[in-house]
Amino acid sequence: MFIEGFTSLSLGTPGCHPGAAFYGADFRLKRDVSELFPYINAEADKPAYHEDPHSVQFMLHGFKCALYPDHLKAVAFETREEALEFFEKFSDFLNDLYARKEDIVPNYKKFQPIPVFPIFKLLPRTNCRACGFATCMAFAAALSKGEIAVDGCPDLKDASNDNARELRSMLS
Ligand code: SF4
Repeated sequence: MFIEGFTSLSLGTPGCHPGAAFYGADFRLKRDVSELFPYINAEADKPAYHEDPHSVQFMLHGFKCALYPDHLKAVAFETREEALEFFEKFSDFLNDLYARKEDIVPNYKKFQPIPVFPIFKLLPRTNCRACGFATCMAFAAALSKGEIAVDGCPDLKDASNDNARELRSMLS
């Protein structure tokens, strides 16, 4: 077994969504899991492998994860029980990867952030805060790091929106 349980769990509203009706969970892990980062980068859904801070982001069972050597941050949960259930699935995912390590080609390619300003220029720039960020610039910075999706801005959900199309192509 590569990973079993965690040492502590803190739940809170994510910093970028103060007052949100959901929780972000931060699980402190019992061991350093960084040896699996290139394997997660090879196999996970929507991975982004970062050098600094050393971490890998990915989606797992519909939850956004940011995994660091000794802790896992994940969003968005409605209850503590949901976060605990998710941790079981996360453990299964890591244990399965570890068991199949010899059969997986690790991916060491690091995520290349897109410059913030070209992204910002394609946003509505009204600073309406509907995305949960205080400004469009903050939303652009999060987009450039691959932390959020374009349709986090309600104005960009419309598939026929030219700026949304250009942003998706820029970030893909
Ligand atoms: S919802 Fe869109 S327009 Fe409003 S602040 Fe966020 S990025 Fe800017």
